[in-house]
Amino acid sequence: MGIEEKLPSGVALTSIEKVLGLARKYSQWPVTMGLACCAIEMMAGGTPRFDMSRFGLEVFRASPRHSDLMIVSGRVSQKMAPIVRNVYDSMPEPKWVISMGACASSGGMFNNYAIVQGVDHIVPVDVYLPGCPPRPEALIHAVLTLREQIGKEPLGVHREEIARAAEKAALEA
Ligand code: SF4
Repeated sequence: MGIEEKLPSGVALTSIEKVLGLARKYSQWPVTMGLACCAIEMMAGGTPRFDMSRFGLEVFRASPRHSDLMIVSGRVSQKMAPIVRNVYDSMPEPKWVISMGACASSGGMFNNYAIVQGVDHIVPVDVYLPGCPPRPEALIHAVLTLREQIGKEPLGVHREEIARAAEKAALEA
């Protein structure tokens, strides 16, 4: 007989990792990171019509020190790139990144010297959201997708380690 069957009713077994995963996934604190037109849709997500507050993340923080989610909304210029990285580095672990829109993910229509051809050249990205611009409902879907990933993440692993492991697995496949 397994230990779970020996427990009295009303008692459940779980791990600290699972409990913390549950707490983390329902508590994102996005940093203000509006870079271009996609940011208008991101802001619309916080309005009563789309009501991102239903999912507990309507409070965009002005300080990266108080944030664990970066939504890169819009194209990233070469001049902005070091600042994006600086903001990311200033966020405490654990932290996550959503790349919102074609420009943030790949440069989009701006295939030129002035625009970074994908924010993943600067920071590790957890969820890529397509569209030009993606609608607020799509952003909410990206947030919910990220939540599922957060709930399954092991504790104590640095984000960049995860990104490097995923890159290595992709190269080996
Ligand atoms: Fe603007 Fe479209 Fe680029 Fe978003 S994906 S920043 S809406 S051009």
